[in-house]
Amino acid sequence: MTDYYDTLGVPKSASRDEIKKAYKKLAKQYHPDLNKGDKEAEKKFKEVNEAAAVLGDDEKRSQYDRMGHDAFSQGSRGGGFNGFDFSGFGAGSDFGDIFDNLGDIFGFDIFGSRGGRRRRGTDLRYDLDLTLHEAAFGVTKKIKIRKQGVCPKCDGKGGTKTETCATCHGQGMVRQARRTPFGIFQSTGPCPTCRGEGIRIVEECRACRGEGVQTEQKELEVEIPAGVAHGSRLRLSGEGEAAPKGGPTGDLYVFLSIAEDDLFERHGDDILLECPISIFQAVFGAQIEVPTLEGKAKMKVPAGTQSGTVFRLREKGVPHLHHRGKGDQLVTVHVETPKRLSRKQSKLLKELAKEFGERAEPHKSLLERLKKKLKQ
Ligand SMILES: [Zn+2]
Ligand SMILES: [Zn+2]
Repeated sequence: MTDYYDTLGVPKSASRDEIKKAYKKLAKQYHPDLNKGDKEAEKKFKEVNEAAAVLGDDEKRSQYDRMGHDAFSQGSRGGGFNGFDFSGFGAGSDFGDIFDNLGDIFGFDIFGSRGGRRRRGTDLRYDLDLTLHEAAFGVTKKIKIRKQGVCPKCDGKGGTKTETCATCHGQGMVRQARRTPFGIFQSTGPCPTCRGEGIRIVEECRACRGEGVQTEQKELEVEIPAGVAHGSRLRLSGEGEAAPKGGPTGDLYVFLSIAEDDLFERHGDDILLECPISIFQAVFGAQIEVPTLEGKAKMKVPAGTQSGTVFRLREKGVPHLHHRGKGDQLVTVHVETPKRLSRKQSKLLKELAKEFGERAEPHKSLLERLKKKLKQ
């Protein structure tokens, strides 16, 4: 797979207009209508579209630039637009304007199926709650959804007895001349006889009243990869609602919500933990045990540690979703001041304070500065 910039033949610094221009030129060059049966052109056309879908969208483009080609395509999860999943990269994509225009120019719906202008099934949303551990290490979740499924009686055709449409020979599309900015094009459009369905119903299916769909309950297993973030989403291609009369099925989007943990706080792929230590551990140093996402870890507190010091436990955080390795765990220690002292403890500490003399007062210079400030 080549770099998307190479595919479109534009430099990395290309402007949106340059990308659009390059895309239009190549899409015209490799368009299937102009390259009848040329497999190589068809492949090129697909590649060009794929590249433009990413580079034509500012958000996806910057994601692509950051992650690089390989990492970007590794994130894909099956199906849809060449198996790409741009989930979690933010909605509101604006490549609509590029492709809407091209749709006009070519009379061809890039995102639709090639087999006519059939209505696509609705996309569905499912909200899935995960614990921090599940999100960090991945999990397989069973979910149940109610949706419009393909009618089992007629296999989604809407009729128990159907015929191939005579006008379009089942293609759903007919060729027609179109006037375009490039001149008159022979392009394809939906068949007027069957409205793009490619079949004629001789006997309507009674189970679905000719709709081809029926409400069904479906149980799905969703594999959550390790390292997913709160608010991200997964696309399960083709798991949305079935379309009437055998059109392409919609997708299911699983929105992930990660519950707050009572111990750990997640910052990106790092895990934050607050950990109390005794005044003696802080003074003399100690080897302590701290909880991590994967059980306990030993941590060295050096002698003379101040309250608020942050220690980094490498690779004890959340696995990175798109590349190898893990985040770290950052442990902030808090020195606990002893309370409710026994008479003996109190006496010993007072003696100790006397021994320290002036040094028993913390940050002398800072205290003096504070006093001065108060007098002002
Ligand atoms: Zn049916
Ligand atoms: Zn037809």
